[in-house]
Amino acid sequence: MNRRYRNLRIEKRNRLFELAYIDPITGLGNYNAYLARTKEKIEINSKKTIIILDIDKFKSFNKKYGHMKGNALLKRVGEEIKHSIRKTDIVCRLANDVFGICLSGEVDVENITRRLNNKISRIKIEDIWYNLRISMGVYICGKEEKDVQSVIDKAIMAHDSIKGKYHVPYGVFTEEFEQKLIRESEIENMMEYAIRNKEFEVYYQPQIDSQTERIEGAEALVRWRKDGNMISPGEFIPIFEKNYFIIKLEEFVYEKVCENIQEMKKELKKVPTISVNISKESLLEKDFLEKYMKITKQYGISPNDIELEITERTTVDNNIDMKEILEEIKEKGFSIAIDDFGTGYSSLNMLEILPIDTIKIDKSFIDRIGEKSHTINLLEIIFLITKELNLKTVAEGVEKSEQVKYLKEKNCDLMQGYFFAKPLGFDALKNYIKENKQKE
Ligand code: C2E
Ligand code: CA
Ligand code: CA
Repeated sequence: MNRRYRNLRIEKRNRLFELAYIDPITGLGNYNAYLARTKEKIEINSKKTIIILDIDKFKSFNKKYGHMKGNALLKRVGEEIKHSIRKTDIVCRLANDVFGICLSGEVDVENITRRLNNKISRIKIEDIWYNLRISMGVYICGKEEKDVQSVIDKAIMAHDSIKGKYHVPYGVFTEEFEQKLIRESEIENMMEYAIRNKEFEVYYQPQIDSQTERIEGAEALVRWRKDGNMISPGEFIPIFEKNYFIIKLEEFVYEKVCENIQEMKKELKKVPTISVNISKESLLEKDFLEKYMKITKQYGISPNDIELEITERTTVDNNIDMKEILEEIKEKGFSIAIDDFGTGYSSLNMLEILPIDTIKIDKSFIDRIGEKSHTINLLEIIFLITKELNLKTVAEGVEKSEQVKYLKEKNCDLMQGYFFAKPLGFDALKNYIKENKQKE
């Protein structure tokens, strides 16, 4: 073989290698290169730290400054990462604005993530400074782990876990985290069967008028009974919100509530208003109101019998026109309550703008009644505002008589909590209503 031909072949091989392994924008390795090089590293017996890093809102940056600037930014970020780690460490660009890093030996995670954050949060391109935010997922991989894909996946999961948490620049994949994921997928595997198999039930927690001590309302709370054990809504609701199963579950709860109201109307003179929790996922569904109205009519009851609870957090999403959505709901005759009030950073003028009837003061405020702290002042402010705006108030998680005393003094409209009753099954609720009546 002549030399010229051999050189050509080597050149061609190098070009193919480049195409397969080099990211043309940053000059770093690409995803294939990251897999191959990290695999090589983790096959050597020592500790490795995997970091997945991405730039928040890179899409908006591209839109605002154009693709050329976007590409220049990616290149600069790649350089900054390279300068922050050792020569023997690996950095590659995996996709869009996502970088993969693999560090060898003992690593101070706090330190390296801070260094990366500092370097990248202010970046200069052609004499102009840009402020950026990054988020990182970290996985510290033990000596014995050899499966490169699983190691990278864990760092990605750690990264996903901090999505939307603006003040947290990085998340670490831990043992506890892994347990949580296993449990999450268990729950996901069981949910469809559970709804078919009637494992979900609706409980009701009475809401008591603070002046008359009569039951005026009840909150519907879902329960999951699996083989005789209760799974807590605190555990499954967040999972169902993530995978949108909540839409199906809430429809089930709502239908049960309508059925129960219909039954109570036949048996009782006065039926308490039932509050139903509605997640953002359901609320934003296109045919939400249509669907719920259909169910309501099917049971011959009226939206006036029902209050819909949406959390304060749901109302603070700037991307949606909450006012319009809630107004439509109100027009049908439902009342609307803001749940967990005081925990969601809503602005006070939201209370004026949105068509709200009721404020449910979060338990954390009620817990501090009796403590000598500023919370009491905060509570007083909440009562002043709600009076001013003519909003009904419900105190959540009332457990002690001194809380009852305070809430009565403040003319809080309704009280809900273990002091009066735990969430009750439907039959127990009916008994509670009958006994409560006899007390008159
Ligand atoms: P939430 O809407 O804030 O409901 C109040 C929770 O506080 C209920 O827990 C209730 O049992 C509990 N609670 C009531 N009084 C007291 C008290 O005096 N002390 C204490 N320590 N706790 C009290 P639960 O039933 O476990 O529900 C937890 C959360 O699950 C609810 O919080 C709600 O966010 C969610 N949830 C329950 N059912 C549904 C539903 O159908 N749809 C949606 N989206 N969420 C639901
Ligand atoms: Ca609620
Ligand atoms: Ca609540």
